[in-house]
Amino acid sequence: MTTSPQLQLRQRLESLRAAGVEFLPRTLPLPTPVAIAAPRSLPTKAVEPVAAPIDTRRVALDLLAKEIASCNLCPELFATRTQTVFGTGPLDADICFIGEAPAADEDRHGTPFAGVVGQLLDKILAKCGLRREDVYLLNILKCRPPGNRLPEPIECMNCEPFLLRQLDLIRPKVICCLGAVAARYLLKASVNETPLRGASYMAYGVPVVCTYHPLYLLELTGEAEARAKWECWDDMKMVLRKARRPVPGE
Ligand code: SF4
Repeated sequence: MTTSPQLQLRQRLESLRAAGVEFLPRTLPLPTPVAIAAPRSLPTKAVEPVAAPIDTRRVALDLLAKEIASCNLCPELFATRTQTVFGTGPLDADICFIGEAPAADEDRHGTPFAGVVGQLLDKILAKCGLRREDVYLLNILKCRPPGNRLPEPIECMNCEPFLLRQLDLIRPKVICCLGAVAARYLLKASVNETPLRGASYMAYGVPVVCTYHPLYLLELTGEAEARAKWECWDDMKMVLRKARRPVPGE
């Protein structure tokens, strides 16, 4: 014969009283919450679906920016930079744009994608129905290579842990690489590989779309410029779809 839960509870209480227990706490004590530290790097497979609270991540991002501001791992860049260029944008941005390294304007202003390059990026974002304030902008390198030379592999390696920690705190739904250097570096693709734009990839568990750097688009003219801008728009539509955002005109 089965007993009801109420009868089981009454029997349990009576046996406790018989044992001398007169009072029971209204609630059971909860275990002490355990602070969850942000992981130092993105996992190589899927990003964990649960992120730390946004305030915790904001504090961690501020601390990371301070750590980077005093970094001297690349002696030449440390000696010649005006300042480090950490990145800008909302912490809950679902789209992250990554360039290769700060240029002169960015080194001067301390923000990525400044000057005429930034103005063209703003136009591209506007065509997507986005503002600069809606997305997160950063570079692979946080310091300007002197004379705008290409980043050295060792410099990218030195800066990679910072990039991974930054991405892990922002946790975008999609990353858009601007330019071949950022794309090859993020995807660990060889220099001889065919152009990476026009398809999507995965890096650190996040979808990645590659497109032209605005500086490259600014250098083109005529038919080449028109074709590259159409291709860039195709890439941006892919970015919007990956971010589950509406595509203007569709
Ligand atoms: S590029 Fe990165 S690793 Fe190199 S000095 Fe600047 S912050 Fe440090």
